[in-house]
Amino acid sequence: MFEDHAKALDTCLTCPSLCQSACPVFLEDSNRSHSPWGLMQTMNRVRRGQIPFDETVAEMSYHCVGCKGCTTQCEHGIEIPPVLEEARQKAVKSDILPSNIKGFVEKFHRHNNPFSKDLLKRLDEILPAQKKQKDPKAIYFASCTTISKTPEIISDTFSLLNKLKIDFVAPYREAIQCCGYPLLSAGAESDFVDLAEVNYHSLKKLPLIVSGSPACTYTLKTAYKKYHFDLEDKVISINEFLKPYLKNINFTLKKKLRTKLMLHDPCYSVRYLDEGLLMRELIAEVSGYPPGEFFDHQNSTSCSGQGGCYSVIEKERADRITKERLKECYEKDTRTVVTQCPSCVFKMRKNSKRIVVKDLVSYLNDCIEEALS
Ligand code: SF4
Ligand code: SF4
Repeated sequence: MFEDHAKALDTCLTCPSLCQSACPVFLEDSNRSHSPWGLMQTMNRVRRGQIPFDETVAEMSYHCVGCKGCTTQCEHGIEIPPVLEEARQKAVKSDILPSNIKGFVEKFHRHNNPFSKDLLKRLDEILPAQKKQKDPKAIYFASCTTISKTPEIISDTFSLLNKLKIDFVAPYREAIQCCGYPLLSAGAESDFVDLAEVNYHSLKKLPLIVSGSPACTYTLKTAYKKYHFDLEDKVISINEFLKPYLKNINFTLKKKLRTKLMLHDPCYSVRYLDEGLLMRELIAEVSGYPPGEFFDHQNSTSCSGQGGCYSVIEKERADRITKERLKECYEKDTRTVVTQCPSCVFKMRKNSKRIVVKDLVSYLNDCIEEALS
C-alpha cells in the first residue's frame, strides 16, 4: 500500500512539519496526528508494515479538507491529498470506513447526489422561463450543491448571459446533476467511476461544457481523465468563458458598487485551477477597482471548512474553521464577501448572519446593467 507515494512519504519522515501552519484542520484541532506531517507519518508506518490499516487509520484519512495548503507551504511541493485519497479508497474497499461516511455514500445513491433530491426537477423550478434549446452550442453545468443550496447563482448566471446577449448556452438537463466529486472525496472510487462513465457518455456529445463550480471544473477536466473519460478540451470554467465577453463588450453599470468587499479564494479556484488572478481581473473589469484581500489570499488562501468530507465527520469543527476565516471581515469592517464555490457560499452564509456572501458571477450580474452593442 502507498508504494506510488513512497518518495513523498519518506520526504515527510525527516521534516520538522513546516507545513502545519497552513493546515486548517490542524489549526482547528491542534492534534498533531491530524497535521499534514502526522497524517503522512501514520500512512508511512502502514506502508512499512509497522501498523495495520485499521478503522483508526481509516478514520484519520478523512481529517483533511483537500485544500493543498500544505503543498503550497512545502519546499518540496509534496501533495498530501492523493495519499489520503488512496487511504480512503482502501477504507471503502475494506469496509472499515467511518459510519457517517458510509451513511453519506448511501444517501448519495438515492438520487445520485449528496442531497437526496431530484435536482433536475429543482433546476426546472429555478429556470422556468429557460426554453429547452435544441442542439445548444454550449451547456451550463451548475453543480449539485449550487442547485440544492445556492440556486440564485444559476438564475444570476443566466441573467448575466442575457445581458451580455449570449444566447447559445442552455442549462444541462440530465437526471444526474453531480460530477461525482463527493463520491471521490468519500473514497467510493468504483461508485465514482460508474457515475463518471454515465456523465461522460452524455457530456462528450456536447460541443462545450461551461462549469459553474471550481470543484466540478477540476473533477470534469482532470479527475475524469485519470479514469480515461477525457473531457479536458470540452470543459471551461465560467470565469474563462466570461472573460472575453467582459473584456470586449461595452456595458453600462447598474451602479458604481462602492460596497467594501473581500474576495475569498476557494482552494479549487486557486490551487487546482490557478484562477486567482482571473477572478480579480473580472471584478476589476466590472467594478473598476480591485477587491479587498484576506491576509491569506490567492495561493496562500485558507479553506472555508467545507472541502472534502471533513464536515461529514467533524461538522462542528468544520463550522469553526469557517467562523475563524470570517473573523477577519469584522476586523476589517467589511460586511460583503465575494467568492466562487457553492460550498464556500453556503458554508459562510450558514456561519454568519451579519455578512453578505455572494458568488462572483452573482456579483458581476449585480454590477452590470446591460450590454451596449
Ligand atoms: S508536506 Fe512538506 S513541509 Fe509538510 S511534512 Fe511533508 S515534507 Fe514537511
Ligand atoms: S490538504 Fe489542507 S487539510 Fe489536507 S493536510 Fe494539507 S493543509 Fe491539511
